Amino acid sequence: MMGGRGSSSGMSGGSGISSFKGARVRIESDINGLNKALVNKTLNGVRDTLNEFGIPLNTLNGVGVTDSKKAMASVNGFGDLSLSRTEYSSKNSEFKKANHVADSTAYGIGTHEAGHLVSDYAMHKNNKGLSVLEKANMRKSGKWDRQVLKTAKKMNGGSLSAVSKYGSSSKGKAAHEMVAEGVSEYMRKGKNASATSRAIVKALKSYL
Ligand SMILES: [Zn+2]
Repeated sequence: MMGGRGSSSGMSGGSGISSFKGARVRIESDINGLNKALVNKTLNGVRDTLNEFGIPLNTLNGVGVTDSKKAMASVNGFGDLSLSRTEYSSKNSEFKKANHVADSTAYGIGTHEAGHLVSDYAMHKNNKGLSVLEKANMRKSGKWDRQVLKTAKKMNGGSLSAVSKYGSSSKGKAAHEMVAEGVSEYMRKGKNASATSRAIVKALKSYL
């Protein structure tokens, strides 16, 4: 799907940063201190994922830098993407391969984080009657992602398997990561992704 404001500048290999600038997404100035190649690969991953699901680029609210060492990147409930200053200041143009996630490249970090954005977008779309606080709780508890996985399981004939070591549990808050890992694997492999990842993507699309 090519719809949505800003998507014209987002297609055909333009830089991730310029795609999001074109969609008026807030890019914080401290991004300039990071390795641009890594940042662009990650934002390309976010952009391609949002385009795959046909949702607007400004679903990503902003991009900034964090000094937290907990993760390479993260998104909060407002759609803000934070990139780890330490990781994204690396001189290398690609991250070291890691086997516990579906796609450990800089692009894969973007598709994973965008998986969270897509799931949140679907949650908001399908829970308009809830208050802001109730929606925040729904996101935080993993309740919504468990529902997505339940739908995916049904679509997949009653079973789901681990997508990766990181995305291996459909229980509790871990459901959150299984959904994101399913999206990330699908964005890397497409039709050759596991049946579980394809079902997760199909389930998410059914809520959009
Ligand atoms: Zn995650």
